[in-house]
Amino acid sequence: MTDQLSPVHVQRWVHGFIDTVEEEVDHLTDLDRRSGDGDFGTNMVSALRRSREAMADADVATAGILFQIMSETFLAHSGGTSGPLFGMWFREFGKVGMVTEAFTQEMLAEATANGLATVTRLGSAQEGDRTMVDAIAPADRALREAVESGSELREGLRAAARAAHEGARHTSDLLGRRGRTSYVGEAALGSPDPGAVTIAMFYQAAQRSAD
Ligand code: ADP
Ligand code: MG
Repeated sequence: MTDQLSPVHVQRWVHGFIDTVEEEVDHLTDLDRRSGDGDFGTNMVSALRRSREAMADADVATAGILFQIMSETFLAHSGGTSGPLFGMWFREFGKVGMVTEAFTQEMLAEATANGLATVTRLGSAQEGDRTMVDAIAPADRALREAVESGSELREGLRAAARAAHEGARHTSDLLGRRGRTSYVGEAALGSPDPGAVTIAMFYQAAQRSAD
């Protein structure tokens, strides 16, 4: 049982997340093909592989270092609309974890809230526009509630993972209003947004790392 995510947990989280995206690359690409142009999965995996290589030499002394590395890699090397958005998303976890050895639930809630603010500021998407925001916003609410009610970290992460998953699933019913998916219209209905699905994977990996 843990009430903090130490660097060892964070390593499990980050590598678990990368493993899942690699395993699901074809699925993510297929989702982007249905609602955009089909480059999402391969872009994501190539930036994550590059991040993993950069992590190999890192001194994992703070909770945030691996997120800082992912952020820098995504901002420098990844393409598409989502690359810079994920780069800025990881950056918020790196910033909150920069001067600490472990993430508390409060810190994870803070990083999520900051990430939501940054992604919506840069991409101008609101909840309901069929983007990654549709998974981030419910995770933000879940973590906020967990902090307010004083529930355990594991419970908070479980709630965040479930909320992000439900939010991502719900994007199947939404018409796109941002990015390429807005040109696809009704053809995207029935398939979830790949960016939102990836955010759900991110919180699921966080939850698993704490178990
Ligand atoms: P594209 O091929 O359209 O340049 P990507 O394939 O790299 O973009 O990424 C698509 C993902 O980016 C979508 O699944 C969505 O979650 C996310 N996205 C697109 N536009 C926005 C936006 N304005 N705000 C937030 N997320 C967005
Ligand atoms: Mg695309």
